Amino acid sequence: MITVEEARGIVLSDIRALEPERVTALESIGRVLAADVVSDIDVAPFDNSAMDGYAVRAADVEGALEGTPVRLRVVEHVPAGVFPSMAVGPGEATRIMTGAPVPQGADAVVMVERTAEEDGGAVAAIMAPVRKGENIRLRAEDVRAGEVVLAAGEVVGPAAVGLLAAVGVAQPLVYRRPRVAIVATGDELVPIEEYPGPGKIRNSNSYSLAAQVLDAGGEPHVLDVARDNFEDSVAILSRAPEFDVMVSTGGVSMGDYDVVKDVLERIGTMDFWKVAMRPGAPQTHGTIGGTPFFGLPGNPTSTMVGFELFVRPVLLKMQGHTMLDRPGHAVVLAHDIKKKPDRRYFLRARAARQPDGTYVAALSGAQSSAMLTSMHRANCLLVLPEGESFFSAGTTVECIRIDRKEGSE
Ligand code: AMP
Ligand code: MG
Repeated sequence: MITVEEARGIVLSDIRALEPERVTALESIGRVLAADVVSDIDVAPFDNSAMDGYAVRAADVEGALEGTPVRLRVVEHVPAGVFPSMAVGPGEATRIMTGAPVPQGADAVVMVERTAEEDGGAVAAIMAPVRKGENIRLRAEDVRAGEVVLAAGEVVGPAAVGLLAAVGVAQPLVYRRPRVAIVATGDELVPIEEYPGPGKIRNSNSYSLAAQVLDAGGEPHVLDVARDNFEDSVAILSRAPEFDVMVSTGGVSMGDYDVVKDVLERIGTMDFWKVAMRPGAPQTHGTIGGTPFFGLPGNPTSTMVGFELFVRPVLLKMQGHTMLDRPGHAVVLAHDIKKKPDRRYFLRARAARQPDGTYVAALSGAQSSAMLTSMHRANCLLVLPEGESFFSAGTTVECIRIDRKEGSE
C-alpha cells in the first residue's frame, strides 16, 4: 500500500497541459489561457461622458446655482455612438448622453438633473458648478493599446470574457479539455432506464463519474459496460488510446471476477494497486497505450472519492491549471469519531460556519462506501490522518471542501 501523497505524486508526474485550441470568447469561460491577450485598442477609446447632461467649460459655470443659473447656448446634441462635430466655446454647451465622446473645448459634464432646458432646447440653464474633468471618463483609463490585459495561465471568468470582447479577441487560445473515457464493470449492472431484475443494480457510477468529469472541465465519454470476464474487459479497456484519460469503476479488488488489475498488467503498465485510504483502498493506476488509466473502486462513494483525490487534479493539470486542489480549512468535530489507524480516512461531512468564523463539522450520514446519500449531503470530506484511531468531539481536523472550486477561499 502506498500513501495518498505518493499516489498523487505518481498520477501527476507525467501529466502536461494538452495542446491549446481556439474557441469563441464565450466558450472560453472556465478555461485556462494558453497565450497572453493583448489589446488592439485603448479602452475607453476616447474621452466620454459618464452622465447624461451637458458638456461645458467648467470655468463658465463656476457661479451656477439653482436660484442663479448660468445660461449656455446649446450647439449640438450628441448621443452615444456619434462623434461630435462642433467644439464647445465660451458660453456654449453640448447636450451629451452617457458614453458619447466629449466635444473639443468642453472639460466637464453637468448631469441633466442639475440643468433645465429653455427656448425649446436651444439654451441650457446650468444650476450647479462642476470641477474640471468631472463626469468625464478618460481615454485608456481601463486598458492601453498594446497592453497585456489577460496573461497566459489565467483562468477565464465572466469579466475576462467581457475584456476579450472589449479588446476584440473573438477566438482566444485556451488549453483543450481532456476527453475522458468512463468504463463501468460488472455483470450486475443495468442501464438507468431499466428496472433491475433479481441480483441486478443500476449503473450509477458511470453517471456520477461523468458528472465529476464535466465538473472538472473534461469531456466524458461513457463506453459500454465491461462484463466481468477477461476478454470483454480487454476489448473495452484497449480503447484507452482513443482518449486522454480512461477511468474504470469496479472489478479492481479481491473478488473472483475482479479482472481490471490483470487486464491492466496484460495490456498496459501498472504503477500501484492499493492506496492507504478509506473509502477506496483498492484502486489501480497505470497506462494503456500511453493513456493514463485509473481503475477506481466499484462502491459508489469510493469511486467518487478516488476521482476527487486523483483524477480531478490530473484533468485540471491537463487543462493548464496550476491550482489543482480544492480549498480546505480547519473544522472542529461536533462528535467523537473512531477509525482504524492504518489508513487515512475521508469522511463525508457538513461543515457549518459559526458566528466567530470557525467551522463545526458533523458527519453527513452513514459512511458505508456503498451509500451515496451521505455523499450528496456532504459539503466536505474530513481528512483523518493515518496513525490515529480516535478523535474526540472538539478536536480540530482539516477538511476538503468538495463544494468549492480550486482557487476560491
Ligand atoms: P466491485 O469492486 O466490482 O466488486 O464493486 C463493488 C461494489 O460496487 C459492488 O457492490 C458493485 O455492485 C458496486 N458497483 C460496481 N460498479 C458499479 C456501478 N457502475 N454502479 C453502481 N454500483 C456499482
Ligand atoms: Mg464488480
